[in-house]
Amino acid sequence: MAADRSISELLTLQRPLRSLEFFPPKDEAQLQAMHAAATSLKRISPDFVSVTYGAGGTTRDRTARACAMLRDEFGFTVMPHLTCVGHTAADLNGISDQLYSDGFRNVMALRGDPPKGETTFVPYHDGLRYGSDLVALLRQRHPDLCLGVGGYPEKHPEAPNAAVDLENLKRKVDAGASFITTQLFFDNAVYYRFVEKCHAHGITVPILPGIMPVLSLKQIKRFTEMCGTTLPPTLITRLEAAAEIPDVVEIIGIDWALDQIRGLLANGAPGYHLYIMNRAKSALALAAGLAA
Ligand SMILES: Cc1cc2nc3c(=O)[nH]c(=O)nc-3n(C[C@H](O)[C@H](O)[C@H](O)COP(=O)(O)OP(=O)(O)OC[C@H]3O[C@@H](n4cnc5c(N)ncnc54)[C@H](O)[C@@H]3O)c2cc1C
Repeated sequence: MAADRSISELLTLQRPLRSLEFFPPKDEAQLQAMHAAATSLKRISPDFVSVTYGAGGTTRDRTARACAMLRDEFGFTVMPHLTCVGHTAADLNGISDQLYSDGFRNVMALRGDPPKGETTFVPYHDGLRYGSDLVALLRQRHPDLCLGVGGYPEKHPEAPNAAVDLENLKRKVDAGASFITTQLFFDNAVYYRFVEKCHAHGITVPILPGIMPVLSLKQIKRFTEMCGTTLPPTLITRLEAAAEIPDVVEIIGIDWALDQIRGLLANGAPGYHLYIMNRAKSALALAAGLAA
């Protein structure tokens, strides 16, 4: 099987990258929807796509199947996500060996969130505690893997403060991370400050901004509360004025994301990563809007 192209290599191309994040379908209907979205998205040629990994390794097989489909049927460069939750170090070695022998050369390495109902992360027995431990394990096991890690412009919710969180991000880079994809944010100033602080801290790997086009006010309030992202009052006011009319909310979401991406690219971001929730429409609209 031909091996994937390394994202590190793509990041040296001196042009903004476009990446899209999928989640693994739960059932046949979601699989069909993902297939249809991927079919539409092929026309905008994403530089790479990624597939999330569910709590406790519960999506291990579904993530693998979705990755295989996106690569083999659509020809996308695919980055599977992997988390430490519910796995021993030996499991993680085994999973990485499988990914490697299947030809994947890019992995998003994450600690993962505590399982549902639990508030603190407890490492699995003989498992790993931090994202940096997973990066170190993968880097040692497969030195040529390109490893993405998560970065938190508004700080990870568990971190006592931004300085400590930045120190911990540096640990991931020092352990061998190739690039950072950020948590979603809605105010570009937050990203610019974060990049500046990373640089001042000696973090020099590319930092891909993570953008989520809003699809529903209720959903985005839930997401942002969970991950500690600020929703700007202007955006909330606009979404509330749409009175929860889904089509209008979607237009507002796309419009906001388009403004964000234009600004980010004009200010030298290495591209943008879209949290698309397995839907094609926003990504297609954004690609068209950016074509001008
Ligand atoms: C781009 C992106 C993709 C994601 N994809 C997924 C996914 O597919 N599946 C999923 O379940 N979740 C996913 N997440 C969510 C992620 O798993 C959670 O945010 C998780 O809580 C942290 O993971 P991490 O790898 O960033 O953790 P870490 O880098 O380990 O950080 C977690 C916390 O521990 C602290 N910390 C780190 N190292 C140390 C240390 N040495 N000493 C003390 N404290 C330390 C950090 O400051 C932080 O507060 C994603 C997040 C992002 C940004």
